[in-house]
Amino acid sequence: MSGEDGRASILRHAARIGHLELGPGAEFDLIRELFSQLADGARGAGGDCAVLEVPADAKLLLSVDTSVENVHFRRSWIAPREIGYRATAAALSDLAAAGATPIAILLAVSAPPAWLGDLPAVAAGVGAAARDAGTVVVGGDTTAGRDLTLTLAVAGASEHPLSRAGARPGDHVYVSGRLGGPAAAVRAWTGGAEPDAATRERFAHPVPRLREGRWLAAHGATSAIDVSDGLVADLRHLAAASAVSLSIDLDRVPRWPGTTVIEAASGGEEYELAVTAGKHFDVAAFEREFGVPLAHVGEVVAGGAGVEARASGVRVAPIPGYNHFSASPPLAPEGRDIEPR
Ligand SMILES: [Mg+2]
Repeated sequence: MSGEDGRASILRHAARIGHLELGPGAEFDLIRELFSQLADGARGAGGDCAVLEVPADAKLLLSVDTSVENVHFRRSWIAPREIGYRATAAALSDLAAAGATPIAILLAVSAPPAWLGDLPAVAAGVGAAARDAGTVVVGGDTTAGRDLTLTLAVAGASEHPLSRAGARPGDHVYVSGRLGGPAAAVRAWTGGAEPDAATRERFAHPVPRLREGRWLAAHGATSAIDVSDGLVADLRHLAAASAVSLSIDLDRVPRWPGTTVIEAASGGEEYELAVTAGKHFDVAAFEREFGVPLAHVGEVVAGGAGVEARASGVRVAPIPGYNHFSASPPLAPEGRDIEPR
């Protein structure tokens, strides 16, 4: 269902909904419909501002993330509900990297008329991701636009948030999970095939490592970042923020079956965590707690502010992360070959 049919359906359905304190009008009917789809993933929206309780002694953490059709996903790849879920999980992943507890989400939707019929399903996905993370959407905005664009601002709280800036020489570098799944799914789609169910799931339903991030913050992690642009590219941000160098052995990065070393090192939108911690950090306790691997993939060394990566004992050329402003078409494979030097 799309276009005018969808819009009419929204308006018919919206006529039955009135829990938001908004005046009459088609745009407000759409907003009412979207919030009804958020179900118990929404709370008290409709005022000029959301009012949040922040726990005493906690710091307030804020982050914003945008997902754009044909840049971050294609409509033919995943269902509208998955598009909403994925965009929300991506935003929440930044709170996971800080070890924060989510307390609220704001959702801004820009959509062309052809998307109107599917927006309730997108909203349902946002609501499901919010619920899965134990949080709620407390407000939002809708507007017309050329491509579907979802912007999610997330708020979280933490007494001792992790940042990218705490890595110390002598720390180990760890990464959670197994990498390469989302890259393999995109490789299949862009090659005209359907990815296998497991890699498709990694792309369509990423899980922000919120509980893991809080555990890591409480158990001695010194810095963290979530893997959104590619492991090596994101570790470069951590190295720069901490003013250290990172020596990474790519052979130690757990890979999704059927994926290459380079896919695991460069694939984006993993939403796993890369962290540093001292030598006495208890990896086994983490793995027991979450049933998720936490692989020791490298070391923090003094000086510089970069990443030296090796595979099969050979130093590899700098691995680019995803560049949203590059000349190459969005989502195209970029041919990141290993270049020994
Ligand atoms: Mg991030």
